[in-house]
Amino acid sequence: MDSFDVLVIGGGPAGYVAAIRAAQLGFRTACVDAFERGGKPSLGGTCLNVGCIPSKALLDSSEKFEVMQHDFAEHGINVQGASIDLGRMLGRKAAVVDKLTGGVAYLFKKNKVTSFHGLGRLVRQDGEGWVVDAAGTEVKARHVIVATGSSPRALPLAPFGGHIVENSGALAFEQVPGQLGVIGAGVIGLELGSVWRRLGAQVTVLEALPGFLMAADDAVAREALKQFGKQGLNFHFGVQISRVEQDETGVTVTYTEKEQEVTARFDKLIVSIGRVPHTAGLGAEAVGLALDERGFVKVDGHYRTNLPNIYAIGDVIGGAMLAHKAEEEGVALAEMLAGQAGHVNYDVIPWVIYTSPEIAWAGLTEKQAKEKGLSVKTGQFPFSANGRALGHGDPRGFVKVVADATSDKLLGVHMVGPNVSELIGEVVAIMEFGGSSEDLARTVHAHPTLSEVVKEAALAADKRALHM
Ligand code: FAD
Repeated sequence: MDSFDVLVIGGGPAGYVAAIRAAQLGFRTACVDAFERGGKPSLGGTCLNVGCIPSKALLDSSEKFEVMQHDFAEHGINVQGASIDLGRMLGRKAAVVDKLTGGVAYLFKKNKVTSFHGLGRLVRQDGEGWVVDAAGTEVKARHVIVATGSSPRALPLAPFGGHIVENSGALAFEQVPGQLGVIGAGVIGLELGSVWRRLGAQVTVLEALPGFLMAADDAVAREALKQFGKQGLNFHFGVQISRVEQDETGVTVTYTEKEQEVTARFDKLIVSIGRVPHTAGLGAEAVGLALDERGFVKVDGHYRTNLPNIYAIGDVIGGAMLAHKAEEEGVALAEMLAGQAGHVNYDVIPWVIYTSPEIAWAGLTEKQAKEKGLSVKTGQFPFSANGRALGHGDPRGFVKVVADATSDKLLGVHMVGPNVSELIGEVVAIMEFGGSSEDLARTVHAHPTLSEVVKEAALAADKRALHM
């Protein structure tokens, strides 16, 4: 029987990164992953195959089409007869995914990580380690890392199938739907709804919560909702869905909104109401691996489960269901196993929504900071007063800095506007060092760049913005 120091179950961002880092640290490492795309093994999990990467590829393609139609004329560029070749667009998306998933396979080879394709199942304890069924072959492992990720949450009234799709289906429509329904105005619903709206669908978003993006800063959520509304995304909040019926040509959804019953007809319906931990096939019950009441694997601060030498990381343990959080946990755990001080700072995790305008934040919102009893000062600066944004032709949105009024420590930074997915990086670095709004304000930012808006927002926190 083959024997490994570390066996990782799941080859998504949590698992493949843990495997690479463990191998770098000198562990004899293997990873077993079951994901298949087009009938072939494909490493990288949800993120690379049907999540982060293909959604961004389509967001970029559809944004190019949108910008060309609506913004080129202002730049003095006339384009006639623009149209979409959806097959080619989807083919490009698939090529990007192939490149990256193939890249993970290459990195496994380079780092001498043994790769098994198929299910990984915990079988029995064996001395200090475990026997695991790795794709039909029993292997021994001193440490087992469970990184089995998450799956889309289904709406009991609207099981997936036919015209009712989750993320993978919504990334592969063969035609642009005329009427597209989206249940859930979270990150995934907003991103996928944006893609198809830009390509020509009429998009209606149905959200059970009473408000929009309630995890984001209020000012950012208000601005984003205004911008999305202008683009023609049609939102309904506080709705209660009572019936979903599917026939050959589409889906009829009945819901209550402000005590009125409404019926809507869609060609396709995306259900994006969150994700649930994936532990099916893992053998958790047979070996007594403890899950919490929502099905997440229970871990302590060092990712240890209730069973000796079995650890869990990534979406399957809950918290922020984000690829970068999952990756950092993979690195931290591998380093802890090597006796190092692995650590993830959960207070400074960037959140990004890749809509247009983009939304990004890190740290506390103004409301959260006040609820914690902190005395808070804020500074806000718009992209409309920034030369680069104006030249670029996209001056929507702003940056808002939230700092402690006494110590000046940065508590949170919130952005809605062009390229803020990239601008959040410098903020995270400064917050990671416990920096202040003064640190951000005194740092030299290249001119003309969008990043000057971040600096000006920090200056505005002390009422000394220069260009407003
Ligand atoms: P996963 O990526 O789900 O990987 C788990 C892997 O384990 C899968 O390959 C699965 O097949 C395999 N597996 C499960 N059980 C077994 C078993 N018993 N044996 C063997 N293999 C098994 N996050 C971001 O940070 N940024 C984004 O822009 C972003 N966009 C997203 C867009 C969409 C449409 C979706 C759906 C998600 C997005 N996410 C994004 C979330 C991100 O994809 C997840 O947070 C991330 O993939 C979690 O990584 P993971 O390794 O924990 O799990």
